[in-house]
Amino acid sequence: MLTKLWIDGKAAPASSGKTYEVLNPADGEVLARTAEGGLDDIDAAVRAAAAAAAGPWGRMSARARGKVLLELSRRIRERSEELALLETRNTGKPLADSREEIGLAADVFEYYAGAANKVFGETIPVGAAGLDFTLREPVGICALIVPWNYPLVIAAWKLGPALACGNTAVLKPSPETPLTALRLAELAAEAGLPDGVLNVVPGPGPGCGSALVEHPLVRKVSFTGSTATGIVVMKAAADSLKRVSLELGGKSPNIVFDDADLELAVEKSVWSVFGNAGQDCCARSRALVHRKVYDRFVADFTARTKKIVVGHPEKKGTQVGPLISNRQLERVCRYLDIGETEGAELLCGGKRPRGALSKGFYVTPAVFAGARSDMRIVQEEIFGPVVAFLPFKDEDEAVRLANDSAYGLSGSLWTRDVGRALRVSRAVQAGTLSVNSSSSVHLEAPFGGCKSSGTGRELGLKALDLYSEIKNVFISSR
Ligand code: NAD
Repeated sequence: MLTKLWIDGKAAPASSGKTYEVLNPADGEVLARTAEGGLDDIDAAVRAAAAAAAGPWGRMSARARGKVLLELSRRIRERSEELALLETRNTGKPLADSREEIGLAADVFEYYAGAANKVFGETIPVGAAGLDFTLREPVGICALIVPWNYPLVIAAWKLGPALACGNTAVLKPSPETPLTALRLAELAAEAGLPDGVLNVVPGPGPGCGSALVEHPLVRKVSFTGSTATGIVVMKAAADSLKRVSLELGGKSPNIVFDDADLELAVEKSVWSVFGNAGQDCCARSRALVHRKVYDRFVADFTARTKKIVVGHPEKKGTQVGPLISNRQLERVCRYLDIGETEGAELLCGGKRPRGALSKGFYVTPAVFAGARSDMRIVQEEIFGPVVAFLPFKDEDEAVRLANDSAYGLSGSLWTRDVGRALRVSRAVQAGTLSVNSSSSVHLEAPFGGCKSSGTGRELGLKALDLYSEIKNVFISSR
């Protein structure tokens, strides 16, 4: 398969002629050759986005924009099997997970299709005689930079509200996972999105991503990725005072109190850290358990983990596939060594499967017990299937441990005590929490982090704030 860049409504080779290999993580084989975007391609994409903003898209009514998004949603659903297979081959996630994600991407466009003509302004009773009102206007050209763990879904999270608000965009997928983003651009064109409104330029972070962040015509940068890169992006965007929102890393706590429904908590907690092979910014990778139920919970959790089916992502029944790359596999294996050196006890997992799977980037889900909060496996984002268990003695200690982290993205707590659920939800420093549930991401509700997990809220109607400018107008009646 050979894939090109998508600029101004057309597939195009990189201006340098360069291409690179995209691998299938299930077997390490070459899946596609993709054009590698560079400075000139970014410039062409940004200029196409600027022309589109000044063209029919800029003049289209909000209702008509919504209809284009609705049609895009419909086309994604129509092509869901093709897109799911592409996503699975590119990321290694089980096919059932990819199907769910493609459905979610379609849901996102459907939601923002409905939101497009509900980006309301306000009338404000000011002191002077006349009428004061606000207009919500597009910000301009948006740079949308996404990672490899949920390629299509995260692109949809950004594109949906950006297009609903009337902006134009350049989407830079991760170099590892450009395939569904490029297909999305084709589907968007078929759905009636005018040329240049969405441009997709895969390429390396430095050189391609950085050129996009620094481009003088770009007004807004929406970035999802690691905290280290987020800091670089924010600094680069500061030189031209671009608006920036950042969805970054996490090390989320999973707090289990002694009055919790332990059976439910075990089942859900296992997937809250091992889903997507642990490559999830919200992964509940720090398990904090009340010491009264610690031994039982750890034993049940470990027994459940051992039953997880690790396998080829296209095989029916597979629950956890490979990691995205050999680099990521080596990183996870390094942390497994670090955990043991630090003195945590590896109860299961952390093995590379043999036989047919040995060519892919697989590692079995790993459980560490007896961890301490100062250990690197507890403080640093591993971004793989590794959980560390720590006991606590009371609510205060649970909150202290939960907050003993540079990150503040997500977390869960398990308790039957409503008062405690409220107290702890208030006390834990995170942008997104769930009680007696591991699902903290809902399309209709704001999602994002605090501390080193970023700034800004995506999803729901709050995301419209990221992609619209408020203009205040006063009309004197004198
Ligand atoms: P990454 O930071 O390496 O890369 C993210 C994107 O940024 C890629 O497209 C990359 O090419 C690009 N990039 C790299 N350097 C750049 C630069 N100097 N300028 C502009 N763009 C640049 O992250 P990753 O390894 O792709 O993804 C994993 C990370 O993403 C994890 O830390 C994870 O927690 C985080 N993540 C966060 C969320 C969230 O919503 N908070 C969601 C998914 C992933």
